[in-house]
Amino acid sequence: DAIANQIAAGEVVQRPASVVKELLENSIDAQAKNIQVIIRDAGRTLIQIIDDGGGMSETDARMSFERHATSKIRHADDLFRIRTMGFRGEALASIAAVAQIEMRTRRPSDEIGILLRMEGSELKSQESVACLPGTNILVKNLFFNVPARRNFLKTNSVEMRHILDEFQRVALAHPEISFSLYHNDTEVYNLYSGKLSRRIVDMFGKNYREQLIQCQEETPYVTVKGFVGKPDFARKTRGEQFFFVNDRYVKHNYLHHAVLAAYEATISEGSHPFYVLMLDIDPSHIDINIHPTKTEIKFDDERSVYALLMAAIRKAISINHL
Ligand code: ADP
Ligand code: MG
Repeated sequence: DAIANQIAAGEVVQRPASVVKELLENSIDAQAKNIQVIIRDAGRTLIQIIDDGGGMSETDARMSFERHATSKIRHADDLFRIRTMGFRGEALASIAAVAQIEMRTRRPSDEIGILLRMEGSELKSQESVACLPGTNILVKNLFFNVPARRNFLKTNSVEMRHILDEFQRVALAHPEISFSLYHNDTEVYNLYSGKLSRRIVDMFGKNYREQLIQCQEETPYVTVKGFVGKPDFARKTRGEQFFFVNDRYVKHNYLHHAVLAAYEATISEGSHPFYVLMLDIDPSHIDINIHPTKTEIKFDDERSVYALLMAAIRKAISINHL
């Protein structure tokens, strides 16, 4: 079973950034308002996430490391109804298979919390502990028991880039939550809760403040909200372009083309506009690829999403131009 867990873990946990993504999503699902991320050595030796969410009971805490014990999917149809980030119930089990874990958790209504230690899928110890409400999880020595995976990791700066990408996606999707990120005791981000425009400026820099154009458009099928950069702000290097569907970061080439089409001749050939766009749509109209690491999504009426997106951005750009 330990071997089965290790193999399955390979699907979910490819690198430190995958751990960061899964843990952040759990904190979001737990309704946290403040989330702190502490990284050491680009996540090789430590990934710690502290949240002030709902925490877990003793039983739930133990169950959380069992594969599928918590799966929210009972029927195939459920996949299309899910609103929580997690739904497979395999992230913690997968992480526990390839790391050493220390988890403290307490529900606000409980007097005392619980501390669990796991190592390579094995429960090492369990004890009561005084702790703040919420969950504080440490993932140490990732791939300590899988040298091949450990050796396959890239340089610290590459692994850290992947962690920052995941962190940015989650922090942009949730400007209502405060986030901080530390790497080797250096503060990388300290983001206060607020509006999306403020989150963008806090994350990317003060010079973005004057460059953002607000977009908002809706049909009964889909709602589009967010910001695009002014045409003059488009860059030669492709970088800050984000789509979120129901708060989930997604990659979508077809929709990316809708954005480019909206800019038309206002940007020069080969330059890349900034955008952070949030689509909201009834989950029954989308198909989230169930592969754990994929960020792809299908709409049952892709063309109307394309049309609305293009219209929303065109309008925003032309109003800004007046
Ligand atoms: P999933 O998120 O797909 O359900 P996970 O393995 O990520 O599976 O988590 C298992 C379960 O553990 C979650 O469903 C949730 O009940 C609980 N859990 C995990 N992290 C937290 C957290 N930070 N706060 C509260 N509960 C959590
Ligand atoms: Mg999860």
